[in-house]
Amino acid sequence: MNDSFKHKGLRNRLVETIKSKGINDEKVLYAIGNVPRHLFMDSGFIDHAYQDKAFPISANQTISQPFTVAFQTELLKLKKGDKVLEVGTGSGYQAAVLCELGVNVYTIERQGELYKKVVNFLPSINYYPKKIIYGDGYRGLEEESPFDSIIVTAGAPFVPEPLLNQLKIGGRLVIPLGENIQIMTLYVKISDDNFDIKEYGEFQFVPLLKEKE
Ligand code: SAM
Repeated sequence: MNDSFKHKGLRNRLVETIKSKGINDEKVLYAIGNVPRHLFMDSGFIDHAYQDKAFPISANQTISQPFTVAFQTELLKLKKGDKVLEVGTGSGYQAAVLCELGVNVYTIERQGELYKKVVNFLPSINYYPKKIIYGDGYRGLEEESPFDSIIVTAGAPFVPEPLLNQLKIGGRLVIPLGENIQIMTLYVKISDDNFDIKEYGEFQFVPLLKEKE
């Protein structure tokens, strides 16, 4: 794996940057400090890999901004061994951050091109999600439910009902909600039909699209 001292140094700086923006969960900061983000990016952007910015990847999609990845991850309050569903695998970066935290990762991607790339790429750099699925995240993953946490990494116009159903009681769903600008929203499942809902400000994501391509 091409991960040099220079890259490690740049990652340490990135960790300081997201810390200064308010991320303080040590485990999340450690995970961001460990994942070689430059390997998840197309060659034209590699020099920018440790800037706190989103960048284009294939299929008109993006690798999320590290602060956003850390922010969503922090909201999930994950424990080792938790079962976590990610909707929107993209480059696989968020999935790698989750793997660093010792959780069992299930991740769904609807774009065949990205799915095919990630299925080979993540194991090649020693990240092993339990399942990487080519499918429609609006449906969640019934056969593996219930989940301790669900993270949606694309902007959703509404909360998909299956995702709420597939959470454990006490489970947490973090989802950016809205069309052009999204509000980061956290659902904590109190009972089968009762959720504690909190909002955490504006973010901008590519849209969560219907059905596979
Ligand atoms: N988590 C990704 C990462 O770390 O690189 C970033 C994800 S990118 C902002 C959003 C992803 O959601 C894209 O890869 C897009 O193809 C995917 N997506 C959009 N609609 C989807 C759907 N209905 N089901 C699953 N994935 C979807």
